[in-house]
Amino acid sequence: MKIAVCPGSFDPVTLGHIDIIERAAELFDKVIVVVMSNSTKHAVFSVDERVQLVRRCVKHNNIEVDTYSGLLVDYAKQKNAVAIVKGLRAMSDFDYEFQQALTNKSLLPQVETVFLTAKGENMFLSSSMVKEVCSLGGDISRFVPNEILEDVIKRCKGDIK
Ligand code: ADP
Repeated sequence: MKIAVCPGSFDPVTLGHIDIIERAAELFDKVIVVVMSNSTKHAVFSVDERVQLVRRCVKHNNIEVDTYSGLLVDYAKQKNAVAIVKGLRAMSDFDYEFQQALTNKSLLPQVETVFLTAKGENMFLSSSMVKEVCSLGGDISRFVPNEILEDVIKRCKGDIK
């Protein structure tokens, strides 16, 4: 069974993330979305809330959602994953992602990093952009799945940092 992991902070999950996760689910037997809890970014949603939000949005039944706070390659090894799937947006993602992929490859050579290109309409979509637009009262319905729209608005609207 070919298992892939899709790591990220997902604070909150966006249509960009969901597109990558669902496409990965077509390519692999099982996809584990890993909500990483060791991010240095200030999170608006708790790890458990982020897991629940992702679970409500994914459609394929070969997708699992889990959390991890350690080194991603240790998690991948533990789960016998063959790939780490990442989404690539603009060139601005490239340097960082390339560096991470090379580091992970040297730490765990048997796991490949697979990049899926973002859909054109998701090229500029990020969780931080969603939070900023929402906090200022903008319409985020084209950026986050319908299933979680109300929850994201409730948490982020008026939450100006
Ligand atoms: P963000 O960069 O929005 O904080 P994460 O750290 O949760 O997102 O990212 C998890 C993964 O999802 C990364 O591989 C990232 O490149 C990818 N990703 C994030 N936003 C998009 C998008 N709009 N389209 C495609 N992939 C994306």
